[in-house]
Amino acid sequence: MFIDSHAHLEFDEYAADFPQVLERAKSAQVEAILNIGTSVEHSKKTVALASQYPHIFAAIGIHPHDGKDTPDHYLDILKELARKPKVVAIGEIGLDYFYKHSTPDIQKQRFEEQVCLAKELNLPISIHCREAFQNIIDILNRSQYFKGVFHCFTGSLAEAKKALDMGFYISISGIVTFKKSTVLQEVVKELPLEKMLIETDAPFLAPEPNRGKRNEPAFVVQTAKKIAELKHIPLEEVAKVTTQNTKKLFGLLSSYV
Ligand SMILES: [Zn+2]
Repeated sequence: MFIDSHAHLEFDEYAADFPQVLERAKSAQVEAILNIGTSVEHSKKTVALASQYPHIFAAIGIHPHDGKDTPDHYLDILKELARKPKVVAIGEIGLDYFYKHSTPDIQKQRFEEQVCLAKELNLPISIHCREAFQNIIDILNRSQYFKGVFHCFTGSLAEAKKALDMGFYISISGIVTFKKSTVLQEVVKELPLEKMLIETDAPFLAPEPNRGKRNEPAFVVQTAKKIAELKHIPLEEVAKVTTQNTKKLFGLLSSYV
C-alpha cells in the first residue's frame, strides 16, 4: 500500500475523468491521498473533496505564488477551515524565489504567518521551497516550529541533512525518476527511508515513463520503485515505511485508511 502525500486533485485537469483517476489509484494500491490547497478557494475545494471521499485528506494554505492575491482576513478563513474533519496539515506554504510570482517580502510574511498558525493549531506543515532554503530555515527557527515535510525536495544533500536535523521529513516526487536528477538520487541513497515520504504533486511532474503527461496518484508507485532501486531494497519496504511515516506525521486516522 502507498500514500500519495501531496496532490492537487481539485484542479480542472481532473474535471473530465475524476472517478477513473481514483479507480486507477486504487488499482495501484494507493490507499490514501493528501490533497493540498494553494489558495483560499483551492483550500475550500480541498476540504470539500476530503468530506466526500473517505481516503482523501486535506491540507489548507496559501502557496507562495498566491501570497499577493490573498484577502486580509485569510488567516481567519484558514482557521475556520482547519476545524473541519480530516484537515491534517497547513500547506502548501513556503518561499519560491525562482518564479517570484509574489515578491519575496510578501512571501516571507505569508509563510511566517502560516507557520505561526500551524504552531497554534499544532498541525504539521507542507513546505514548498525553491531557491530559498536559508530564508525558510531562518523563519522556521524564528517561529520555533519544526513539524512537517519539505515537499518535492530538490535541494542538496547538505540541505536535506539540515532539514532532517531540525526534525522535518523530506518528500520525494517523480523528479527522482528523471535521468538528470543525480543530486536528488544521491539524497535518496544517503538518507534514511524513515525520514522520507512519497508524493506525485499531481497534476505536475509526472514520473518516468509518463514524464510530460498529466500526473495522477497512481503514478506515485513509479517514484517508490525508483527509491527501491536506488537503495537496493524491496518495493514493499518502501511502501510500508513511507506509508508509516506519512501516517505518523499527519496522524491519518486508521479508521479511514
Ligand atoms: Zn504542490
